[in-house]
Amino acid sequence: MHALILIAVYLAVTLTPLVLSTLQGRPLRPVWDEISSGLAMTALAILLVEFVLSGRFKVISARIGMDVTMRLHQLLARTVLVFIVLHPFLYQTPYLTFPLPWDVSRQLTLGLTIGSLASGLIAWVALPVFVLISIFRDQLPYRYETWRLMHGVGAVLIAVMAMHHTLNAGRYSSDPLLAGFWLLLMAAALGSLVYSYLIMPLKEVARPYRVTSVRKIALRTWELTIKAKSGNGLQFEAGQFVWLNLGRSPFSLHENPFSISSTPGCDAGIQFVIKQVGDFTNRIGEVEPGTTAYLDGPHGNLTLKGRSGKGIALIAGGVGVAPLLSIAGQLDKDNDPRPLVLLYGNRLADQIVYDGKLKLLAGKDNRDVRLVLSEPEPGWGGLTGMIDRATLDEVFGFDDAAQWLYLVCGPPAMLDAVETALMARGVPASQIVSERFYYN
Ligand SMILES: Cc1cc2nc3c(=O)[nH]c(=O)nc-3n(C[C@H](O)[C@H](O)[C@H](O)COP(=O)(O)OP(=O)(O)OC[C@H]3O[C@@H](n4cnc5c(N)ncnc54)[C@H](O)[C@@H]3O)c2cc1C
Repeated sequence: MHALILIAVYLAVTLTPLVLSTLQGRPLRPVWDEISSGLAMTALAILLVEFVLSGRFKVISARIGMDVTMRLHQLLARTVLVFIVLHPFLYQTPYLTFPLPWDVSRQLTLGLTIGSLASGLIAWVALPVFVLISIFRDQLPYRYETWRLMHGVGAVLIAVMAMHHTLNAGRYSSDPLLAGFWLLLMAAALGSLVYSYLIMPLKEVARPYRVTSVRKIALRTWELTIKAKSGNGLQFEAGQFVWLNLGRSPFSLHENPFSISSTPGCDAGIQFVIKQVGDFTNRIGEVEPGTTAYLDGPHGNLTLKGRSGKGIALIAGGVGVAPLLSIAGQLDKDNDPRPLVLLYGNRLADQIVYDGKLKLLAGKDNRDVRLVLSEPEPGWGGLTGMIDRATLDEVFGFDDAAQWLYLVCGPPAMLDAVETALMARGVPASQIVSERFYYN
């Protein structure tokens, strides 16, 4: 229901320019001119709403999930690109760099000025470069934080140029009502940046944490524990994640998303399971106890809240086990009587975290832990291979498996394979909730 409301609001906002233009009742131009103006206005509305779909707004990501929010953000950016690239080529009406006095409804010429032509051109050239840099960011020699800064600055530049072009060259946007709508939307876009980069950090300053321990728990994998310096700390649902900032100013762009692996209210504090993959995570073992930490969150909807199932299946690939451990702990804490299976895949046995805790869990009534290794040592007693259709058939081969709730977390390729296999096994999409640790 919430998702439907969000979709309705989204459509209402992005289609408002078309509605306001139609209501102006201006004489129609050739159809391709109208299509071109319509595409450009819709693209600008989508572009400005993209600022809000950047993933930091819980009102959105907590309802439709961070994955879906980010995938929408990327898909809509590509849509904007197509609309904007086509836009100048569709016009049939000629353009002049001065308005014709007798053409008050701007029906006979496109009425571009040097300024509006320049701003349009800058946005038109910058947008493809911007989208391509985002798509291929991993292939480019920039740190993630550098890319993030470039992404924010680039987005503002394109939005400002596109806005200048629209307000000065747009036939329909010269109308005060539509111009007012554009300014409002621009204010919302810039306001969302102020919220994310100023107001949120200011809130974080008031809720500092300190690192209480860092310990190695598996091959290239660490457990990090933090505690609120004062008060109860973050209220979150098992399975959610936060943006973690360690030892830097809360206004720093150096923050990384990590799922919380401990259960809400855990005495030890908030725990994370962190795998070494790059600049920040490779140095996690060097973090000193006492280091100040700030959290932006909780985010994400890989949770049990509002969901039901005859049993709970937790399917993890590698460090994707982190949020699922929190959920398993929560079910235990709640004495949830439903059967639970944790299917946990890794490449090597040395990568398995919390071996002891997993054995304890497996020993409980109605709880099962199935470990899978793709490169097992001789003598390995668990499952072997990848978490694929065959593994799922073996582990979830019982009768009512289609009525269980499946919470899945891990690398993108594994998630795609598991989601497809589960649906092929008759599990409705609404019973599968997944979270990617990588947006691309
Ligand atoms: C929702 C979510 C939950 C996650 N939970 C965990 C977890 O519990 N345990 C764990 O080990 N890993 C988790 N990750 C992955 C973790 O965030 C990255 O491995 C980490 O940020 C890499 O940072 P780095 O500087 O070491 O590596 P880099 O080489 O800088 O980054 C490697 C890749 O990680 C991603 N990444 C890096 N920084 C960020 C950032 N600030 N925001 C978004 N993506 C970024 C980018 O795709 C980048 O290409 C999670 C990711 C997401 C999106």
